[in-house]
Amino acid sequence: MSTRRDFLQNITLGVGFTAMAQSLISPAAASPFITKNPAQKLRVAIMGLGSYGTRVAEAMEKCQMAELTGLITGTPAKAEAWKKKYNIADKNIYNYSTVSQIRNNPDIDVVYVITPNSLHHKHVIQVANAGKHVICEKPVADNAKQAREMIAACDKAGVKFYVGYRLHFEPHTREVIRMREAGEFGKVMYMENGSGFKIGDPTQWRLKQELAGGGALMDVGIYCINGARYGTGEEPTWVTAQEVKTDPVKFKEVDETMTFQLGFPSGAIANCSTTYNFNGLGSLRLIGDKGFAQLDPAFGYGPIKGRTHKGPLDQPVVTHQTAQMDGLADCILNNKPDPNMTGVEGLKDMLVIDAIYESVRQGGKKIMIKKV
Ligand code: NDP
Repeated sequence: MSTRRDFLQNITLGVGFTAMAQSLISPAAASPFITKNPAQKLRVAIMGLGSYGTRVAEAMEKCQMAELTGLITGTPAKAEAWKKKYNIADKNIYNYSTVSQIRNNPDIDVVYVITPNSLHHKHVIQVANAGKHVICEKPVADNAKQAREMIAACDKAGVKFYVGYRLHFEPHTREVIRMREAGEFGKVMYMENGSGFKIGDPTQWRLKQELAGGGALMDVGIYCINGARYGTGEEPTWVTAQEVKTDPVKFKEVDETMTFQLGFPSGAIANCSTTYNFNGLGSLRLIGDKGFAQLDPAFGYGPIKGRTHKGPLDQPVVTHQTAQMDGLADCILNNKPDPNMTGVEGLKDMLVIDAIYESVRQGGKKIMIKKV
């Protein structure tokens, strides 16, 4: 017979997030992703104290199982301000050239890499070599080759490697995944995903190939790819892609607007768009032969909203980064199975991104996607 504890564990394993689960756990009381009241917390150091690092640190203040204990920064003034705000010990503050010394620090279990995209490869390998678990922001790397090297380095060091795909801990998203796994949409036939925004400051690193590794596709188009993969539950086998550039000065180095189509082994297809040139693109649509799901907004910080053929989705609204950090802490501290946000998941998205850029280079030709 299934016990309450088994049931709650299943939630953490992604088996289900149902109305019954919500009646067992008060959303106001605690993150729904934690299976026990922990005595120990996961001790996290953030590398890169920028805009998203700030958001993660603030969200972690509400975590039950994770706490900020260390900093890695190239900006001494930020170290000073964060040290006071989060009560961080001086001995737990590093810069980019002292990362290897984290090995000897028992106050840090995991480093969360939140630096510009093209630095992830170097920084994740540095952390792995220092013997600490690592969480890396999306996109995991500039390409699949780098992602493979990062996975190999983490495997060799015996450390866990996650990518910050926060939506895998977001209840509306999880409900759509649960419904798809339960066959409630029937056979998934079609998906339509869009993710984009109008980018501001023309001098920022996101518009420089050397630090960004690419443009809208790498930064936010990746949500369409990840969404198509968790929406269908399959790995795409082919892609066709098109690029439009209306401002060749601002987008001299990186892609501005892209559309692409993904084909899956079942015959399902996903039609996706991404841009850095206009606002309003941020939805996921799934059509099966027995039902549908629509999330809009689907990929931002929330609240995520949506409906299915059964009616509106009314899952709890959570702070994504709090849920993610508690969820990952639960996996690491309690040896739970990994959620779908490992380095290999990051690699799978990079294989698709490599194929999309190749299709554009070849004038929209159909490109077969390499396998893991
Ligand atoms: P920011 O520019 O705001 O912050 C990046 C930080 O990285 C800087 O503040 C700096 O911190 C550090 N850094 C180290 N080297 C460099 C360098 N050469 N140039 C610039 N910064 C450097 O970027 P974001 O926080 O917006 O993005 C960081 C990462 O987070 C990206 O990979 C992005 O894709 C991801 N992200 C993920 C989101 C999500 O929802 N999952 C949302 C937003 C971003 P310091 O001064 O401390 O060294």
